[in-house]
Order: sequence, then structure tokens, then C-alpha cells
Amino acid sequence: MNKTILPGATIGMVGGGQLGRMFAIAAAQMGYRVVIFCHDAQSPAAQVTGSAVVAEMDDHEAVDRFAKQCDVITLEFENISADTIARCSRFAPTYPAASVLATAQDRAVEKSTLRDAGLPVTPFVEISNSDELSTAAEQLGWPMIVKTCRSGYDGKGQYRVSSPGDADQVAWDTTDRWVAEKFIPFQCEISVIVARTADGRSKCFPVFENDHRNHVLDVSISPPSIDAALADQAASIAIRAAETLGVVGLLCVEMFVITDESDGNTTLVINEVAPRPHNSGHLTIEACLTSQFEQHVRAICGLPLGETDLVAGAAAMANLLGDVWTPNEPPPWDSALAIKGVRLHLYGKATPKAGRKMGHLTATAATASEAKERVVSARNALRR
Ligand code: AMP
Repeated sequence: MNKTILPGATIGMVGGGQLGRMFAIAAAQMGYRVVIFCHDAQSPAAQVTGSAVVAEMDDHEAVDRFAKQCDVITLEFENISADTIARCSRFAPTYPAASVLATAQDRAVEKSTLRDAGLPVTPFVEISNSDELSTAAEQLGWPMIVKTCRSGYDGKGQYRVSSPGDADQVAWDTTDRWVAEKFIPFQCEISVIVARTADGRSKCFPVFENDHRNHVLDVSISPPSIDAALADQAASIAIRAAETLGVVGLLCVEMFVITDESDGNTTLVINEVAPRPHNSGHLTIEACLTSQFEQHVRAICGLPLGETDLVAGAAAMANLLGDVWTPNEPPPWDSALAIKGVRLHLYGKATPKAGRKMGHLTATAATASEAKERVVSARNALRR
């Protein structure tokens, strides 16, 4: 039987970024001690816990010293070596398991696993070089999105290729493992975050609808503009994906909504999955009965999963990238906070850089469009 890990116990978090920080705040609120494993004592997560092992991931002695203190261990990003996770799991249950990470670290493995379980994924072909692009196009048609199998995120390692002539834009020399994906002219992008416990209980958050800019999440809203039947379908896809992968903790499933212009039928395909809290779920902190971070704590500790209903009628989240900062002056936070329903989250990162996720704003309101209007106005108010 799986042991329930009650408040008072110690949770280990591998990774010191903003997801680790917001997780640590939620866990501390519930009475857990959190120890962070990270490579910088000033990392966003280490700042809020007062307890961190600062070392590189391949420092075995440090990994063991960290893991020995923990009753359960989790992580905030999937690109952690299997070796580190295996070491952690010698001392405490570690979620998600190394097998989940091995799948989520590799686009081709992830997509094949989900497809073989009967789940809808973006049509793709695994390729290794530019010579194989044309063969892929025979199956998928032009344009295609070519993505590295490993280490790609936020649009990194991704190329849109519209014709054989675009092949030389791809950095083929960086790896010999790629997926070519059919380009999906989606109606919108959505995500579902599902929590799953070791004994197989699961619960989804409401669907989020996501706008990306330059391949990076820009604004999320909930409830989404899709109808309730499609939202239910999205939730059941997310639960099946979590079961297929054997996730314990959270799984975020990002999907494209496709409307067939000939008959108006709407379908869903999975773009990608992430076995951890996700940027699109940040609005749950203010908007849902249980935040995604508290739900992650509950799931890995074997506690009852919290209710996920929206408490505010609707909410919207806007990311704050380094671009909002001007060289010598912080943004006028008071102007954003003067807007009704707006809340500020900053991650404690010292140096703003273009494209770097520095924080986010959330707004609640009666409707999603009103919440979006508030959060976008608040972000615009920050630009001097
Ligand atoms: P990813 O890193 O795979 O989540 O991709 C980042 C963003 O690029 C997605 O959220 C989409 O906006 C866009 N994108 C990725 N793959 C495709 C595709 N096959 N068709 C259309 N747009 C895509």
C-alpha cells in the first residue's frame, strides 16, 4: 500500500526555478518542510525555503545528501538525467518516476507512446536528416514543423519548413533525431492539467485556453471559448494520457483544437505533455479552489485531491518576460495593481533578459474576456 506523507514531513524539489518556488510556497503553507536541489543559492525556489542543497545534478554525493533528508521527492522540469532520479529514488519515492521522464524527454518516444495507446497526437514522422524531409512531406504535406526530439522547449529547436528549399534553415548538425510534424492550422490551443496519485485517483483542472507569442506562452484564460462537450473530451484525453504514462503528480497536456471547415466538426490532437506544474496553470492560484501547486503536493503525498472548480467566475494570466523592464528602472508595478482583480507574482530573478520569464499577472473577473482585458491592460500599464 502507498504511504500517505502527512504535513510535517520533508518534500524534496529538484530544480530552483519559478515552478519550484510556487510549489514550495504551497507546500510550506500546508506545513511541509521543503528542501530544494539547485545549482544557485539565490535561485527563485531557494529564496523562499531557506533550505537548499546547492550543487550540480551530476554531483552524486550532493544528490545523496539531498535525497536522504526527504520523505518524497519531486521535480519542476523533465530534462533531468535518469541517473539523478534513480539516485533520488534509492532514498525516497520520487515522482514523476524515471520511466515517465524517459518518455517525456523525447518527443518521438512521447508521441509514439501516446499514439500507440489510441490517443490523438499531431501526425508526425521521425527523421534524422534533410534528405528524409521530402519523404516525410509525402505523408504529411507541406508545411511541416520540424522539432528536435530532445531538449527543445518554448519553440527552441523548432523550424517551420514550407518547401524543400527551407531545409537548410534547420540546424541539422545539432542532432540526428528529429520529428517532422504536420502543420496544424488550429482554431485555438488549450491545455488540461490533471493530477494523479500513486493509487490511481485523478482529477483535472478546468481547461485553459492559451495564446502563444514567438512560441512562448503569452496569455491563458479559463473558462475557454470551446463548448462543454469538447472540454470534457479534453479532460478525458488528459486522464488517459496520465494513466498511459503512469504519472504520479501533475501532467499538463497541451492540445490543438481543429475545426474542419467542410463540416464544422471539431477535434483535438495532443501537441505535447509535461509531467509537472505548467505555466498555463498559474491562474489556478487565484481562480481555483485548489491551486495546481497545492494539488501537486496532495498528489505526490497521497492525500485527497482538492476540488478544482473556478471560484472566481473567470481568470486570465499574462506572462511577464524580461522585455517589460527598461535598463535602469523597474516597471511601475503600482499602475498594474491599480486595475481591479489584478494580482502580481514575481519570481525573484535578479537579471531581466528579453524572453526570460520574470513573473506573471493574474486577473479574475466575471467573464474570461473581461479577465483577459484586465490582465492585458495591467501588463500594458507596465511599459514606460
Ligand atoms: P511546442 O514547443 O511543441 O509546444 O510548440 C510551441 C508552439 O508552436 C505551440 O504552442 C504552437 O503554437 C506552435 N506549434 C508547435 N507545433 C505545431 C504544429 N505542428 N502546427 C502548428 N503550430 C505548432
